Amino acid sequence: MSASPCGGGKAATVASHRCRVVEHYWVNQRYKYIRLEADSPIATVTQAGQFYQLKCPTTAEHEPFLLRPMSVYGAGPEDNRIEFLYNVTGVGTKAMATLPEGGYMDIVGPLGNTFTFSPGYRRILVVARGVGLATMAPLVREASQAGVAITAVMSARSPADLMEKEFLRGAVADVRSVFDADGSSSVEAVAILIRDLIHEQQPDAVYTCGSQRLLMLLQRVLNDYPHVTAEVAMEQHMACGMGVCLSCVRMFDCDGDRRFLRVCREGPVFPIREVVGEVEFG
Ligand SMILES: Cc1cc2nc3c(=O)[nH]c(=O)nc-3n(C[C@H](O)[C@H](O)[C@H](O)COP(=O)(O)OP(=O)(O)OC[C@H]3O[C@@H](n4cnc5c(N)ncnc54)[C@H](O)[C@@H]3O)c2cc1C
Repeated sequence: MSASPCGGGKAATVASHRCRVVEHYWVNQRYKYIRLEADSPIATVTQAGQFYQLKCPTTAEHEPFLLRPMSVYGAGPEDNRIEFLYNVTGVGTKAMATLPEGGYMDIVGPLGNTFTFSPGYRRILVVARGVGLATMAPLVREASQAGVAITAVMSARSPADLMEKEFLRGAVADVRSVFDADGSSSVEAVAILIRDLIHEQQPDAVYTCGSQRLLMLLQRVLNDYPHVTAEVAMEQHMACGMGVCLSCVRMFDCDGDRRFLRVCREGPVFPIREVVGEVEFG
């Protein structure tokens, strides 16, 4: 089910999985990588952009109540393996960070839709910052395997936060890195960079995730390129993740018709041009 919030779509088959922690380590000072082995096939039913609800453990210090949404960072090669890359930020992720290899965690999914992508594309442009890297890594992999050229604009506070290796995972890409530390990630500078890249490289599609600022910037720039497919994976706060609690609704403009849609259910991937107003991340 690709991004088509206004048209709706078929729901994915959702299941609860008991998972064993196979690998779990720090990637840098803020992010951890976790690889899980599920009790049933999981990789082949999971698509780029989809997410799982994770039951973070209770520890002496932390008692996370709600499940936490986390994008699929990778799946396979065995059909019961799934990977997440996460920012250790609050109660849930701090508790999750204590899980030992060999320990267990329950996850529910796959949830949500996927990116619109065609192996017939010539080139895609991905614009990523922060946890957006984890969400878009499977898309980069899919494009690479299909022989589609990739340009990646990667934005970070400093070179130490970039995680280029973790994002590309061996895929070849034309990488343009921008940083807060030297001002190259400013809205003005990135807007010029994106316009230049669209002119020079003519990508078929542009994708983003992880930054409100980048989303709004792309919305403005892409107004001038209506032929380019443009999608964002949104990271709205959510409770149930299954469309029931309505805590993640956002307003979208569907052909002039303003509608509230659930990020967890009709998304998390939406056409960039249909997002209305502010989103609460980055
Ligand atoms: C569809 C989806 C996919 C996501 N994928 C990833 C991922 O791959 N890797 C990753 O590190 N994070 C991802 N997130 C964000 C992740 O869910 C939150 O960081 C996590 O729930 C924080 O839980 P916590 O208990 O550790 O933090 P909390 O104590 O709940 O919050 C700590 C900080 O995180 C912020 N936060 C909490 N929930 C969210 C949220 N849903 N979105 C954005 N910020 C939030 C809070 O505002 C606060 O600043 C995703 C969110 C969504 C909705």
